[in-house]
Amino acid sequence: MSKRITLAKFSGFCYGVKRAVTTVKKLKVENPDKNIYVLGELIHNSEVINELDSLGIKTVYEIPKDKNGICVIRSHGASPEVIEQIKTSGLELVDLTCPDVKKVQQHAIKLAQEGDFLVIVGKAEHPEVIAIKANAEQYSDKIFVASEVSQLEKVKEAIKSHKKVGVVVQTTQRIETLQSILDYLTTISKEIHLVNTICQSTSMRQEEARELARENDLVIVVGSKKSANTSHLAEILKDITQTIHIESDNELDDYINTINKSENIAITAGASTPQFIIDRVYTKIKGGHE
Ligand code: SF4
Repeated sequence: MSKRITLAKFSGFCYGVKRAVTTVKKLKVENPDKNIYVLGELIHNSEVINELDSLGIKTVYEIPKDKNGICVIRSHGASPEVIEQIKTSGLELVDLTCPDVKKVQQHAIKLAQEGDFLVIVGKAEHPEVIAIKANAEQYSDKIFVASEVSQLEKVKEAIKSHKKVGVVVQTTQRIETLQSILDYLTTISKEIHLVNTICQSTSMRQEEARELARENDLVIVVGSKKSANTSHLAEILKDITQTIHIESDNELDDYINTINKSENIAITAGASTPQFIIDRVYTKIKGGHE
């Protein structure tokens, strides 16, 4: 059976991730004698983390006790407290928070300062959300994180008694999640200040993936299962067409029957998936069917 295989245009590293990976590598070249530490995984990909490690760029989960090093904040951002701790530790700070994530933090701060009850749409345990919340908490304690309407119901009375509700969104959320939360908020609040902070890279990637899903029998989503944006992509596509979420080409064999049965296949990937992994998936599928 001849197959049509389409590779999404908006797949793989977004500009925030590209900027983070390029900058840490450049930092090491410019500072060969210094230890470079990244606080938390720079991206959710073990091959890239291992490559960085071999270059002397270490992933750490606590601020190291080392006065001759550089500590990098990844694209997800960090709380003001963590930033302060790095500054006082003696380490040099390099903040690679994605500019789009910085904008969410600034909008959250502004809404908190203006006295809104702040709703952050996202998962409470997501590092980007933790940092957005911590930034806003400097100005208000009326902040709630929700990724589902059922969670918001717990603070229904508190929201009702507040004059205004402010809403910001974690940058890689699905628009459907934001929509359902807004629908609920409009039933309990008279004044809602929404800043749709889903980033442009995410919107374009999700929009293109939806189109590909409508045109293909099968979509393969490539990227870490730990990556929120990749998982959101797979969730969106599953509602439209047959979808497989794999971390690398090694998993393709598990789906060989589904792949063989599909005539039109599209491949997309999350913002933290390196191009070489996408290429390997594409080559393997194409190679197997020429
Ligand atoms: S997904 Fe969007 S917000 Fe997140 S790093 Fe990429 S460009 Fe920045």
